[in-house]
Amino acid sequence: MGRMDGQVAVVTGAGSGIGLATATAFAREGCRVALVGRRPEPLQAAAYALGEHCVALPADVSDAEAVARVVDEVVVRWGRVDVLVNNAGLNVVQRSTEAVSAQDWATVLDVNLTGTFLVTRAVLPTMRAQGCGTVLNVSSYAGWRAMALTGPAYSAAKAGVNSFTESLNLTERRHGIRACAVCPGEVATPIMDRRPVPPSAEARAAMLQPEDLAQTLLFLATLPQRVSIELLTITPTVQRDWSKEL
Ligand code: NAD
Repeated sequence: MGRMDGQVAVVTGAGSGIGLATATAFAREGCRVALVGRRPEPLQAAAYALGEHCVALPADVSDAEAVARVVDEVVVRWGRVDVLVNNAGLNVVQRSTEAVSAQDWATVLDVNLTGTFLVTRAVLPTMRAQGCGTVLNVSSYAGWRAMALTGPAYSAAKAGVNSFTESLNLTERRHGIRACAVCPGEVATPIMDRRPVPPSAEARAAMLQPEDLAQTLLFLATLPQRVSIELLTITPTVQRDWSKEL
């Protein structure tokens, strides 16, 4: 028996990295998983590999109409949403305060923060009708404490995600819905390729791995519904020296 038998999860940014590892971990526990993301090919390949109880639903999380469409499709298909993992996110290469363009600043806010809001808003009516639900927002350590490595737009967006998580708990706990902002330090995923100085293979080996986050998100998703953890930071035990990558 799986720990998520009979449940339905929506995982955004599920084509790679933390999202893919999380969709995989949930599916192995018997959960039906909707894999949402921008790129149809990796999503479809992942959904096919995970089995017939998983489906690929391409959408840009910053597009309100596309988000409403995919959430409707999940509800029509499976009738419920137990867990939403707001994981889609990105950063831009030119990210320091002097270097980031207004357009890039807006993109980082749109995807990381507004996308989290849009997908959450789309699933809330279903979770409220059920009287339960878990919203797991993949934020960042940079949202808890701003970091030079990630730049101000990303730090501000993720701090916004943490604040939005608090707001959700304020208004939704009376409907049995809980939200958690998960704030990871460095995780070895493709997002690292967009750093101004991409870390070496050795540096990536010293980071958290996508499976570590998947196990953390699985833990949060399977806690008894009475338990709410609002914010969780997770870092590598040994912090590497990244000062030369700034
Ligand atoms: P990743 O680049 O592998 O995953 C991000 C996924 O989001 C990709 O599959 C991408 O296609 C998708 N995505 C991007 N923009 C999208 C959009 N507009 N609509 C839908 N999907 C979109 O990197 P990752 O590290 O697995 O990132 C997952 C989350 O973890 C992100 O929110 C990221 O900010 C966060 N995070 C990562 C780290 C890290 O060190 N890797 C640390 C803290 C937080």
